Amino acid sequence: MKEGYIGILTSGGDASGMNATIRAITRSAICNGYKVKGIYRGYEGLINDEIRELTTEDVSNIIQRGGTILKTARSKEFETPEGRRKAYEVMQKEKIHTLFVIGGDGSLTGARIFAQEYDVPCIGLPGTIDNDLWGTDLTIGYDTALNTIVECVDKIRDTATSHERIFFVEVMGRDAGFLAQNSAIASGAEAAIIPEDQTDTDQLEEFIGRGFRKTKNSSIVIVTESPTGKGAAYYAERVRKEYPQYDVRVTILGHLQRGGSPSAGDRILASRLGCASIQAMMEGQRNVMIGIRNDKVVYVPFAEAIKKNKPIDKSLITVLNELSI
Ligand code: ATP
Repeated sequence: MKEGYIGILTSGGDASGMNATIRAITRSAICNGYKVKGIYRGYEGLINDEIRELTTEDVSNIIQRGGTILKTARSKEFETPEGRRKAYEVMQKEKIHTLFVIGGDGSLTGARIFAQEYDVPCIGLPGTIDNDLWGTDLTIGYDTALNTIVECVDKIRDTATSHERIFFVEVMGRDAGFLAQNSAIASGAEAAIIPEDQTDTDQLEEFIGRGFRKTKNSSIVIVTESPTGKGAAYYAERVRKEYPQYDVRVTILGHLQRGGSPSAGDRILASRLGCASIQAMMEGQRNVMIGIRNDKVVYVPFAEAIKKNKPIDKSLITVLNELSI
């Protein structure tokens, strides 16, 4: 066994497949002669020393479970130099030589800043349902969330059709439209309103003009949640005012989208990236996120991974528009 430990934490919003990632990192590490410590409640637990050793048995029977056995948290204290100093001291005390962070762009931003301030190798794994990290085609949790949304929209469709209504369904994604655009394609929705397309044309006008015709007896529009208030409720209200002849409803899927048993795709992705993260450490890589591109594992420097506005493939917009006539 090698000296010291690797430390694993999950941070930010939970995503299905985080457990499969913890399992993969732990088992691959042990298999290669490293000892592992689990850090509970993200950076908050690192600061407060909520840490214990993980064995191969500790990660048994979790590959199929949603959420995270290590718990997750958002830590305001870690955003301060003082908080990060405490985190560093705890790492020294616990003899953790490399930190594995599973989370979204906020979590990897934190890891990047921490690694700049202290000589601590950090390795990131993209764990977020939003799929908004640069340099990786997929993030762990995205596929499961997408499947959950599609299952819900299929049910809403039955009601929409029976009552001849327009449903605005709000999904997560923060400032990224991957979940909305792809769930709209997969569920046969009439339109998606996504942040990436809010440029020159009004997406609602376009949908009304193009999509909601007399030949259709129901319509579903998937809308990305909006920090600026332009979510499903906003568009529904506009339709009520501008087109009072339509019967409009809103469904906000909310936290239904995060949990649940991970899809096979997310379990495989988590397992591959988990093993690759130990490989990366053994190669001397540091301060990189382990991603997947064209079905190949890649190492993405933190600065790249957290770049804002990962582009969405515009051909997906064409696909939906052509298929929703
Ligand atoms: P999700 O995409 O699911 O929301 P996330 O990782 O983006 O996940 P955030 O809430 O943005 O979630 O970030 C998680 C945690 O990462 C924060 O609570 C904080 O502890 C840390 N963090 C985020 N930004 C910074 C920063 N600029 N400096 C230090 N730490 C940060």
